[in-house]
Order: sequence, then C-alpha cells, then structure tokens
Amino acid sequence: MDTVVLKRASKTYHLDSVGVSALSDINLEIRSNRFTVISGPSGSGKTTLLNIIGCIDRPDQGELIVAGQDVGKLSDDAVSDFRARHLGFIFQTFNLLPVLTAYENVEYPLLLSRVPAAQRKQRVETLLEAVGLAGKGRHRPGQLSGGQRQRVAIARALAPSPQLVLADEPTANLDSHTGQAIISLMRQMQRDHKVSFVFSSHDPQVLAAADDVVKMRDGRIVSIQRRDENEHVIEDCAL
Ligand code: ADP
Ligand code: MG
Repeated sequence: MDTVVLKRASKTYHLDSVGVSALSDINLEIRSNRFTVISGPSGSGKTTLLNIIGCIDRPDQGELIVAGQDVGKLSDDAVSDFRARHLGFIFQTFNLLPVLTAYENVEYPLLLSRVPAAQRKQRVETLLEAVGLAGKGRHRPGQLSGGQRQRVAIARALAPSPQLVLADEPTANLDSHTGQAIISLMRQMQRDHKVSFVFSSHDPQVLAAADDVVKMRDGRIVSIQRRDENEHVIEDCAL
C-alpha cells in the first residue's frame, strides 16, 4: 500500500493580487516503508509539497490520501488530531523545547497523547539509546551539539510510532561529516521502525540514501526514480 497518494493537487499563493503557482497538477504515490526524497532547485515547490503531505497546509484542488485517510474530508481539528497520531516531523532547526531536557523533549509527544508513565519511560529510553544518546537524557538542547540535537529530534519524531516522518532539508544546518552520520542513523531508524520517511533535500548525501527520488521543477514533478532493496533502479520515469 502507498502511504501517500496525491491526485491532481495544485496550490497557488496570492501576493498583492498576483498568483504564484507553487504546485500544479501533482500526481504522486509514495510507497510505504521507504525513504523518499523530494529534490529540486530552490523555489521548485519542495516545502509546499511537504507541507501538504504533512497536512500542515491544504491543496487548493486535488485529493490527498495519507495512511488510507482522505485528508480533504477532515475538519481542521480532525486534521490536527490525525497529524499527532500518524505523522512525525523533523525540523531543520531541530525545534526542541529549550527548557526541557533531551529526555523530556522525546517524552513530550507521548504526554500529549496520554501514554501511561511506565510505557513512556520505556519508549523514551529505548529511543534515546537507538539514536546514540543513552547518557545524554538530562542534557538540555543548549548543552548538546547540532548533531546531537538532530538525534533528539529524530527520537522525538518517532516517539508516538508514526506511519510517516517528514523533514524539510534536515541536514541543511549540519556540516557534511555530521550530516552523513545523521543520514545513516535516519536510514537505520527508517528500516528498524518500518516507517515511511519523506524528506526534501538537495544534499547529494541524502539523495544517495534514498529509495525513491522525486525531482521537481517550477511546481511540477519532472521525474521519479525508484530503487529496490539492492539499490537497483526499478522504475525511472521522466514526466
Ligand atoms: P522550495 O522549498 O523548493 O524552495 P517552496 O515550496 O518554498 O519551494 O516555494 C515554491 C514557490 O511558491 C516559490 O515561487 C515561492 O516563492 C512561492 N511561495 C512559497 N511560500 C509562499 C508564501 N507563503 N506566499 C507566497 N509565495 C510563496
Ligand atoms: Mg524549501
């Protein structure tokens, strides 16, 4: 099954009565349990597409199905609820709460979804260990490096066991060495947790780790390349 299906989706922004077409007529299927990267030059519509898939923004036209749910049929409140239950986000600037420790940052989404205390503790400890931060639970974000903060953000995104994790250029604020370590970790977490990742990026290191690469230009998809587990290209279509 596909995690995301977009049919004929369009989005236009209006600036001083001038319409800017950010996405036009997007048809896209994103496979479950895969690492999909949306790539393309600046202004090509990557962030807009990611925000729509992440149910942060709605398309003006078209249909969006995420994890089997027709999102267009949900009210704004129901969309927020759906997002909290099924989607995880990793932000470029990490977006950790500075007054909370690493442990508390990962625990936060579990508190919001009222997971019982014993289960929370186990989940947070397992995730902190999985991202290589077992000894850093009591550190606040200000006491961690950029790479460590991104590890906390990955653990937090995965905490509520989402079906889909989204990130907008997650390595943009990391040096290439740290970026490579973070990509390997994300790749590992994506496989271990059997979750779908959809990232936007033009970082060659991120593109190299992807199963599927969706290339955009001027608000349109220009090609989709899909690879199997052995990194063989199984589909390569220019649109
Ligand atoms: P990318 O992430 O690939 O750089 P974006 O999705 O941010 O591209 O932008 C796509 C197009 O939509 C660009 O032309 C951009 O200027 C325009 N755009 C994006 N967000 C807004 C907005 N809030 N208001 C007006 N125009 C916007
Ligand atoms: Mg962008």
